Amino acid sequence: MTGRSIDGKAIAANVRASVAEAVRQLPAQPALAVVLVGDDPASQVYVASKGKATIEAGMRSVEIKLPKETTQEELIARVSALSADPDIDGILVQLPLPKHISEPAVLAALDPLKDVDGLTEASAGKLVLGKPGLRPCTPVGCVILAKTERPDLTGANVVVIGRSILVGKPAALLFLEQNASVTIAHSKTRDLKMVCRGADILVAAVGRPEMVRGDWVRPGAIVIDVGTNRVPAPEKGEGKTKLVGDVNFKEAIEVAAAVSPSPGGVGPMTIACLLRNTVLAACARRGWAVPEALS
Ligand code: NAP
Repeated sequence: MTGRSIDGKAIAANVRASVAEAVRQLPAQPALAVVLVGDDPASQVYVASKGKATIEAGMRSVEIKLPKETTQEELIARVSALSADPDIDGILVQLPLPKHISEPAVLAALDPLKDVDGLTEASAGKLVLGKPGLRPCTPVGCVILAKTERPDLTGANVVVIGRSILVGKPAALLFLEQNASVTIAHSKTRDLKMVCRGADILVAAVGRPEMVRGDWVRPGAIVIDVGTNRVPAPEKGEGKTKLVGDVNFKEAIEVAAAVSPSPGGVGPMTIACLLRNTVLAACARRGWAVPEALS
């Protein structure tokens, strides 16, 4: 059996189109501010593509680039100013930050109403409590991808490998919100392969290249690969690299009903969900009704 490859790019394009449609129905243009500290090349690429996607969705993009020597106090002052700015609807601080800056301290300065990454304590608390709020983008993308294959997740056995604040924990809570039965696995989990084989939906958010093999996958399962790992690619030439996921795609797709590839699966969904959150944040803060295109 060969499963389907879940086309994250196409699904993300649909989400982005519905965001653009929603923006057209709003009384004013929402604005997303992205703050980048330092010159990490991968972060620069992410920030540029977020800015481009924001403009393509019809919103205003504000990019704030600060030198790597920026102090924690300076960064907190910038984030506080954006939090207080009535013309800014969403704020994203690109992570990771340089080592001398405490991420929690910076996130604490972010107005939770503008927390489009869903990473503040207030957003995390609302997620745990089941209250409406802004949800982290990558985990939301995972749920949307899973639901394209299985629209009703009620009673599904979901295994999430990884328990980070950014991906694993919120993903587990979001699948729970969908009435799935969720297991969170991590580096201390015993017999991980057997745990994974119990999953109707297997979400890999580990950061270990192709760790999930074909025989970890239950026949007919849906596999969502969050991992993005840069590995050597001698076949492309000396010193060249490529991106691979946490799942061995070739093996998994022989067993699964569907697998989201990496790259090309969860990654595009993350940006699409960020745009969606910006519109939702603008509506909640400005008292606008959420346009039908997004509901
Ligand atoms: P992270 O903070 O490093 O967390 C990794 C998690 O994996 C931890 O909970 C860790 O367990 C667990 N783990 C590590 N080795 C393991 C093993 N051998 N067996 C089982 N569990 C293991 O990483 P993250 O931020 O969640 O990111 C995970 C991956 O997703 C990375 O590849 C990252 O690049 C990618 N990512 C992609 C996107 C996107 O938009 N596509 C967004 C965010 C992240 P412990 O807690 O026990 O240490």
